[in-house]
Amino acid sequence: MKLTILGKYGPFPPVNGATSGYLLQSDNANAVIDCGSGTLNRLKGKIKVEDIDFIVLSHLHFDHISDMGVLSYALAFSKKKEKVNVYLPAFECKALETLKSMAEFNLIFIEENKVYYEKDLEFSFYKMTHPVLSYGVKISSGEKTFAYTGDTTVNCNIRNLVSNANVVLCDGAFLQEDYLETKPHMSVIQAVEVEKLFGGKVIVTHVGEGYKDSQVESEIKSVSQTAELAIEGKTYSI
Ligand SMILES: [Zn+2]
Repeated sequence: MKLTILGKYGPFPPVNGATSGYLLQSDNANAVIDCGSGTLNRLKGKIKVEDIDFIVLSHLHFDHISDMGVLSYALAFSKKKEKVNVYLPAFECKALETLKSMAEFNLIFIEENKVYYEKDLEFSFYKMTHPVLSYGVKISSGEKTFAYTGDTTVNCNIRNLVSNANVVLCDGAFLQEDYLETKPHMSVIQAVEVEKLFGGKVIVTHVGEGYKDSQVESEIKSVSQTAELAIEGKTYSI
């Protein structure tokens, strides 16, 4: 599989940046995972919108869903005839009402103890801890497994989410000096420490809009030689 970082910031984008959005590609499938502000133009640099096979929304905060509106317009103007499956939490809110009104999407509400299939991908969801209902997703193709935490604090279910993963894309929103236990995200250090729960590599994402890459990278390197900071536009092989 290949993972491309379309946007890595939260809760809003810096100049020339984008909030959470990722393209996961297998031999047969193109999956969009979260669709934050500024990610559609970058997605279009990689694939045609009609080639999206399905979308996963980890939760319904705007920094993860705000380009869904313009994506619905792009799909309406595209050659795609069928609706795109969108896997998302059943969290009643105005954003959900808006998504329900978009004819281009077929909304599928996530059930935690269920295995889903799209083309050559098998995937399942794990409830995370965040102010709104939020899920991590584990996606496998053949021998390779990828996991994404979405937004979360440290919790017991992360172990289940990341088991057997080769690469985990992990929320690490705060540098240590800004982190408090009351924050709704993990710190960079906590994200990197997820590596202790599985045998692969963490890629830290959802970094604060005001942070310099060098600040985040130096915290990552203080605890791991394998973990990396997500780089927008970069494609990682899994
Ligand atoms: Zn969030």
